[in-house]
Amino acid sequence: MLKKNDIIELNITSATADGSGVGKTDEGIAVFVPLSAVGDFLRVKILKVKKTYAFGKIEEIITPSKDRTEPDCECFSKCGGCVWRHIKYSAECDIKSQKVADAVRRIGGINTDIKPIIACDQTERYRNKAQFPVGRDKDGNLLIGFYAFHSHRIVNCSDCSLQPKIFSEVIEVTREFIELTNASVYDEQTGKGRLRHLYIRIGEKTDELIVCYVVNGNGIKGEDILVKMLRERISNLKTVIFNSNRENTNVVLGAKNRTAYGNGYITDELCGLKFKISPFSFWQVNRSQAERLYGKAREYANLSGNEVLLDLYCGTGTIGLTMAKDCKKLIGVEIIDDAVKDARENAVNNGITNAEFICSDAANAAKELEQNGLKPDVIIVDPPRKGCGEELVNTIAEMKPDRVVYVSCDPATLARDLKYFDALGYKTVEVTPVDMFPKTAHVESVALLTINTIL
Ligand code: SAH
Repeated sequence: MLKKNDIIELNITSATADGSGVGKTDEGIAVFVPLSAVGDFLRVKILKVKKTYAFGKIEEIITPSKDRTEPDCECFSKCGGCVWRHIKYSAECDIKSQKVADAVRRIGGINTDIKPIIACDQTERYRNKAQFPVGRDKDGNLLIGFYAFHSHRIVNCSDCSLQPKIFSEVIEVTREFIELTNASVYDEQTGKGRLRHLYIRIGEKTDELIVCYVVNGNGIKGEDILVKMLRERISNLKTVIFNSNRENTNVVLGAKNRTAYGNGYITDELCGLKFKISPFSFWQVNRSQAERLYGKAREYANLSGNEVLLDLYCGTGTIGLTMAKDCKKLIGVEIIDDAVKDARENAVNNGITNAEFICSDAANAAKELEQNGLKPDVIIVDPPRKGCGEELVNTIAEMKPDRVVYVSCDPATLARDLKYFDALGYKTVEVTPVDMFPKTAHVESVALLTINTIL
């Protein structure tokens, strides 16, 4: 019988989607081993044993997998960000494709064509947004970095490989400022202290940079010195904002922004349109890959110019707006009021006049639109992780669109919803996984459904 602290030899034969390798013992117990790779032959120390599975850690790599590569980030396995830095990108893409295929087949019970994953050309420094918690360790040393996996312990990280180099320079300036002025830093335990988070965004196309400090209060002492230091050192700095968050909460941003320099926002481009981005706006974190995701969604929507297009969970309107000129009428639905305001402004700024945005829960708005007799030709959905749910799927089916394009960030809820659609006559024609977040456990997918089984 396997027990804690046993040292065993193990072949890693599969991988979980969240970054563990898995091997089976002779008795058939599945052992999950973080940071292992399919094809590894390992000596493993058992840390925890359950009835049918166990957890272990690598003691020694006896024979490495051919998929292995040297992790190249100082924070890997310390911060909660990347899980696939120890294997080659092609192996990571295989795991992600498999995750989507497994979900669709096992959870959805759907037999459909799973297309090759749209891999990301740029697997490093692709993020355009970062949030760094600021704090001190028990000896009073300054920490600016990330939370460790599943915890609120801050791990210093001076240069995250997923983020542009310039973000590291902003961290450095912030660090120097705190040390120079002995600025007050927030303590999560006591709720005391000022500076909580450093939040940065960059326009990938425009190179405009927004730096936002989240403060437990209205601002911090020596603020003008900080702004001056940033302006001197960060040449593409566009604006500096102080965000006020006095709540004892995990939510990073508070409700109030005060602009200390610049005009409070940056702009960026997506699929040829211009978008205004403030700290509150939803904006795709990997812009270039979002263009490819939207490109696939556009291909699936197959618009000819005459359609009514309903874009549910539209955020700041990006997916629908990039297709507005190809349809007769666009209706977007989004629950966050500020995002809806941004969507309307984005339409105006891009000269789009056939778009309308509704601030509402997607299921409620769809029900109301359906009762008012709306018959969209194409419906796009892009829900958060919990998916659309049965009620919304029913309403969509009642509206009888020719096509549904489902953009999903969670294969499991996508699969569940595809099953609901299937029972109502909407067949999944194909699913394309898209890797929006290389090195991390996340995988996005886009699915085409149609009422017409003969395409
Ligand atoms: N399609 C957009 C945003 C997708 S993120 C884009 O590609 O940029 C999912 C969006 O759904 C978020 O903007 C979130 O605020 C919104 N949302 C979450 N729950 C919702 C609900 N119940 N009804 C409508 N929108 C919701």
